[in-house]
Amino acid sequence: MSDAKPRFIEIFDTTLRDGGQTEGISYSVDDKLRIARKLDELGVAFIECGWPGSNPKDAAFFELARKETWVNSKLVAFGATRRAKLKSEDDPSVQALVGAGTEVCCIVGKSSVFQVTEVLRATLAENLQMIEDTATYLRLQGKRVIFDAEHFFDGFDKNPDYSLQALGAAHKGGAETLVLCDTNGGHLPWEVADTVRKVCAHFGPSVRIGVHTHDDTGCAVANTIAGVMAGANHVQGTINGYGERCGNANLCVVIPNLQLKLKMSALPAGHLERLNEVAHFVAEVANFAPNEQMAYVGKSAFAHKAGIHVSAMQRHPDAYQHIDPKLVGNEMRVVVSELSGRSNIVEKAAQFGLTGMDDKLGAKILELIKAKEHDGFSFEAAEASVTLLVRRLSPDYKPLFMLHDYRGMVSRHGDRQSAEATIKLEVLGHPVHMVAEGNGPVNAFDTALRKALQPTFPQVAQIQLSDYKVRILNGNSGTGAITRVLIDWHDGNERRWSTVGAGTNILDSTWLALADGYEFALSAATQPVVKTEALA
Ligand SMILES: [Zn+2]
Repeated sequence: MSDAKPRFIEIFDTTLRDGGQTEGISYSVDDKLRIARKLDELGVAFIECGWPGSNPKDAAFFELARKETWVNSKLVAFGATRRAKLKSEDDPSVQALVGAGTEVCCIVGKSSVFQVTEVLRATLAENLQMIEDTATYLRLQGKRVIFDAEHFFDGFDKNPDYSLQALGAAHKGGAETLVLCDTNGGHLPWEVADTVRKVCAHFGPSVRIGVHTHDDTGCAVANTIAGVMAGANHVQGTINGYGERCGNANLCVVIPNLQLKLKMSALPAGHLERLNEVAHFVAEVANFAPNEQMAYVGKSAFAHKAGIHVSAMQRHPDAYQHIDPKLVGNEMRVVVSELSGRSNIVEKAAQFGLTGMDDKLGAKILELIKAKEHDGFSFEAAEASVTLLVRRLSPDYKPLFMLHDYRGMVSRHGDRQSAEATIKLEVLGHPVHMVAEGNGPVNAFDTALRKALQPTFPQVAQIQLSDYKVRILNGNSGTGAITRVLIDWHDGNERRWSTVGAGTNILDSTWLALADGYEFALSAATQPVVKTEALA
């Protein structure tokens, strides 16, 4: 092992600018501020926040961001090179860039002959002048400048000399980093490596080269890594790979690859373990379901379902894992399903505080899970329901509430739809009868249950449904099919849990998942840890 300092790669996050181009994403100013704060905590070198010259929302963002303290990251305003017939001082978009008040500006300019002549409709010489002038002007305003060379790889493939001249113009204007963009995302890793190597050789080691890749060939992360291996020391990407079309390079995968696999440094020491939280936070604010299979930070990235894996991992945690999940803030999970072996159950039970469980009991629980899965339940994504299933086996377990009956009514009068639910239940032994209305039957049931529980458990007010999914299992049974309902919950803070219900009646499936959700949340703190002996 050498003591040499690891090579440092600048991380330039563009979740808020390029990532904001994702179909279905529309950040409010407040969303952008919250994400920027999280990225600052994570410690990326740069946070590209938006294009102040293009819309009032981004201008408003910079107004507010200027008043905050940013600890680890530099905020970046994005804009284009000046227009062909205007001086930078007269170009409103360049002026907006200056007005954003950031220390760093990123300017995008054309670097491909085709784009200059056919799209920009300027002469090749004019375009070079526009790049150089804009950089020079911003430098004179005291800004640090990063140059994004749009369509660089496409341009370089056909006319490398001109593409290098475009970079040279930015360098001459004082840009500190020249970023090669695979704007259309069509390249493959060895092509990116080849081009980056040639550009680095052309400018020499004193000029910082960056890469900005898109995922149109499914290679954005690989292209980024290939660029780094070929000499780039600056990488641009987004959290969760959000971005136009197929997305940008996913920093949640790029960063651990750089740090854990290539032993380079990208974030401040000790910050990598915040990655998982940041990935989920950004998904939440973007209102996207997190990609559970994402490398490193997906919920399933370290989930083990096959019994043989789990029993091996009880002896050697690294037997089926490429890294320790804690390094990126993720965790190893044991998934319980009918494919599970007893070792999964024992492992899972240990997580609920049930230790020393014998094989006999493990087999009993497994039997129960298999029977339930046969009826249409799926426990893989519903750990709270598994917890309750295990706890309920204990003769000491006292449910906080028990349903006696329910009645649901849905009606439609002209355009107006309404639903009403009546429930009769016992809350800590006391009978409660509650009626509630809702915009649909699920909403009416949920409201009735909340109203019934709230006087005894005021913390119900914090519990929120974050997702409600319905799946039809045996579709060829038509309307008689089994319906599985999965509900994701959170308490407004860090805590999240999921529950499941299944049956031929969608309201009944919903009821089971709803009741589990509240029971799990409310009982977690109040129930004693179940003793193994009590279960036998
Ligand atoms: Zn882009």
